[in-house]
Amino acid sequence: MQIRNIAIIAHVDHGKTTLLDNMLKQSKTFSERQEVSERVMDCNDLEKERGITILAKCTSIYMNDIKYNIIDTPGHADFGGEVERVLSMVDGVILLVDAAEGPMPQTKFVLSKALALNLKPIVIINKIDRPDRREDEVLDEIYDLFLDLDATEKQLEFPLLYASGRAGWADKQPVQESKDLQPLFEAVKSYIPEPKINVDKEFSMLATILTADDFLGRILIGKVYSGSVKIGDNVKSIDLEGKVIENIKLTKLLSFKGIERVPIKEASAGDIIAIAGIEKTSVSDTICHASITVPLQSTPVDPPTMGISIGVNTSPIAGREGKKLTSRVILERLRREVESNVAITLKVSAEGDTFEIGGRGELQLGVLIENMRREGFELSVSRPKVIMQKGKNGEKLEPIEEVTIEVDEEFSGAVINALSIKKGNLLEMKNSDGGKARLILHVPSRSLIGYQSELHFDTRGTGIMNRIFHEYQPFKGSINSRKNGSLVANCSGLTTAYALANLEERGTLFVSPREDVYQGMIIGEHNRENDLEVNPVRGKQLTNVRASGTDEAIKLSPHKIFTLEATLSYIKEDELVEVTPSGIRLRKKYLSISERKKHTRK
Ligand code: GDP
Repeated sequence: MQIRNIAIIAHVDHGKTTLLDNMLKQSKTFSERQEVSERVMDCNDLEKERGITILAKCTSIYMNDIKYNIIDTPGHADFGGEVERVLSMVDGVILLVDAAEGPMPQTKFVLSKALALNLKPIVIINKIDRPDRREDEVLDEIYDLFLDLDATEKQLEFPLLYASGRAGWADKQPVQESKDLQPLFEAVKSYIPEPKINVDKEFSMLATILTADDFLGRILIGKVYSGSVKIGDNVKSIDLEGKVIENIKLTKLLSFKGIERVPIKEASAGDIIAIAGIEKTSVSDTICHASITVPLQSTPVDPPTMGISIGVNTSPIAGREGKKLTSRVILERLRREVESNVAITLKVSAEGDTFEIGGRGELQLGVLIENMRREGFELSVSRPKVIMQKGKNGEKLEPIEEVTIEVDEEFSGAVINALSIKKGNLLEMKNSDGGKARLILHVPSRSLIGYQSELHFDTRGTGIMNRIFHEYQPFKGSINSRKNGSLVANCSGLTTAYALANLEERGTLFVSPREDVYQGMIIGEHNRENDLEVNPVRGKQLTNVRASGTDEAIKLSPHKIFTLEATLSYIKEDELVEVTPSGIRLRKKYLSISERKKHTRK
């Protein structure tokens, strides 16, 4: 059977899931009675909410004796390293663009990588049934985008289709003349080449995606580059240096059918398959026949550049809001994460009660913690720290990232300024049509902790940032961080409007009236550099009972609300974020004043 391997690039809500649903329904992938589950590709709520795809997945569709393997591309750049690896499996990309919204800057990064890898693009202007469609302008915007990204002449001659993914048709014209999505299948078949393979050589496959499921455990997904393989074969795996990792007897070979993984007996070059039951082999390793000694080329997995420590919730209100509390269940959950997420590393402290998690930036770490919170966990989390390395001569090295920022031209000065203070280095600046500028910089990972919200503020929400690990470089010296101290509750109870109103002149408050606070909890940011112990639960001296009613009349400025990621980058070394299913609170690591004094003296 012929194969086509393609990746799909789409901004969230431009209709990718709906289109794939209908491609699947119109295909011969399932027999008549088998039901196609709605909403094929997305399964993680969080991904949907944040408009990102965290792990790339594969959907395979059988149509007219061709197997179409369609890979979902990771949308966000905290996961940037994955992009190149995933794209290395495919021979073409589908760019899916909403007929009213037009191309969005968020998809630019992945598209630029795809074009740079010389992949062949197909463009679909989708949702052409929308009354507010503006397909001619959108097409112009797409050409501009391609030019902006230095597409080759050939790439500019992309096949163009108009579609209503929801109604289930695609056509070369913006009007419905075809009855189905056949023109789309046809375009992929005729325009995207068959996978390049080496049939004469023995079996080799590049492990590209790591995932896991409850029944099969660890699963490696990748493209077979040469030869063929069957159940029971003895193979081995080698790393990027050609060193043998392990010998493997293949017991579980899987292929994709729709979004399901189905067991197969054999597989051959060109196809994208999955292998389960392998212990040590991971992403960017080659799984191959015993006679092969040279590994397949791959971008190595980016090292974790940022670490946080996670522990049990030790606050006085622990156990009130969540169900999963003990270090045992936390460890179990983190172990499972590491099994299926190549970008996350785990170290257990000597005492066994805190866990050092390594990852790539606070967004990724934030996603993990947010997921755990929704699953019912309570946690204490420390400030993310950049992971340093030692150079050949013992010098301190720090991770540097390549940062691409899309921004309205008028703000580019402010962005460059802010990042150069943070020891960023401007490599390239390009103005494109429509008053946008694209900046590429090398910036220490350290400086990017919390920068997302700063960028948002500096560019009135128009700035979009993509990050990808670049390399370790000599330490760039100290960088200014938050100077202000915290307002720390000195007792526990319910906050009162009266007490909070009196504290407003001391700084910015994070809590509102009638909130549970405890001793050692951070309830605001102090105007000055030191921490200040305050009483947020104090009531007015009551002369009679009725006077308490006046509490309601006190007008407070709105308190500051943090997102999880923002809190992680906000807190200082001696502070923690308390995370529960229903709350995010900031606290001092040591809750009582005496303990804090003792530890600062040390
Ligand atoms: P995804 O985020 O790219 O996977 O987008 P979805 O497939 O979830 O679609 C997002 C929204 O657009 C949903 O409300 C769909 O019903 C709607 N939608 C999808 N395809 C079409 C289409 O062809 N025409 C119109 N008008 N709406 C569509």
